[in-house]
Amino acid sequence: MRRVYNFSAGPSMLPEGVLKRAQEELRDYRGTGISVMEMSHRSPEFIATAERAEAALRELLAIPDNYHVLFLQGGASSQFAMAAMNLLGGSGKADYVKSGHFAARAIEEAEKYGRISVVASSEGQNFSEIPEIPKANMDPDADYLHFTMNNTIYGTRFTRIPQTGFVPLVSDVSSCILSEPMDVGRFGLLYAGAQKNVAPAGLTLVVIREDLVGGALPITPTMFDYATHVGKKSMYNTPPCYNIYIAGLVFEWILEMGGLEEMAERNRKKAEMLYGCIDASRLYRGTAKAADRSIMNVTFVLRREELTGEFVERAAMEGLLTLKGHRSVGGLRASIYNAVPLEGVKALVDFMEKFEKERG
Ligand SMILES: *Cc1c(COP(=O)(O)O)cnc(C)c1O
Repeated sequence: MRRVYNFSAGPSMLPEGVLKRAQEELRDYRGTGISVMEMSHRSPEFIATAERAEAALRELLAIPDNYHVLFLQGGASSQFAMAAMNLLGGSGKADYVKSGHFAARAIEEAEKYGRISVVASSEGQNFSEIPEIPKANMDPDADYLHFTMNNTIYGTRFTRIPQTGFVPLVSDVSSCILSEPMDVGRFGLLYAGAQKNVAPAGLTLVVIREDLVGGALPITPTMFDYATHVGKKSMYNTPPCYNIYIAGLVFEWILEMGGLEEMAERNRKKAEMLYGCIDASRLYRGTAKAADRSIMNVTFVLRREELTGEFVERAAMEGLLTLKGHRSVGGLRASIYNAVPLEGVKALVDFMEKFEKERG
């Protein structure tokens, strides 16, 4: 069997140890004689599995008791609508930061349900940086302010959490959740598609402060109302059981290695190594503003653009997969999520140096 290093932006690598464990338990889950895939979501075994996963996530992120954790479906993209439908029941107004592709989609979706104000945008800079939010643009009467913590396609991230006073903060943390510690208590709502840092595609994580549940717009479909899922502990309908099980294994994997401080340390090391290679090179050029660089998605281009295809092909031949940039921006992108080991980044850097020597 051959395993390669996969730098895909999502779905992306899972920890080797988690895959092995899942393989061992695939056909006979801990003495039950069946697979988690075949198990009733109402069975005591599965309920215990889901509870363990939630407890591990709470421990990792130190989630305060007045927050609910939900395991949903529909991806982060469904949350663009769900967040708006659930939170726009006050003034009907919300502030949004437009820092990338998914931020723009979130805005488009929210505009269907309320009066949305774009308080800051880096579209003019082709989203290569995180925009400053002028205080004067923020509406103290807004139901919430929404921002995308890590911009997966452009390789930028917020290094400071916006100050909004009493206005709840909502953040799409799809591509940075569990990459480093975060202060959950500063947020009203966090959501993430699982397929970047947590589990296979099909699971969506939601962390919501309890006072924000229960005020959904009357048009909100039952399945889109957070109150539905809070009331039924994410079991109103069949949840994505197998993904919740894998997410639980991933959470335990992080806890075993020492939690999010350790995870952050590893991620910083990986990112420094890769950006260091890019900055020292005359062939590669980073595309994100240095101060706003993501430690999860590293975006760069070749100064000899015509070599991009060859770079991607030769990297793949060496077991370094999915380095092409998003189709909307081109260039190259290495996503170095939690499960990408340091050795994977080393192998990529070695390849990049070799490629530069030969073709730069
Ligand atoms: C991948 C991604 C999305 C889209 O997630 P889906 O689960 O595919 O809907 C949204 N926001 C961010 C920041 C992402 O990285």
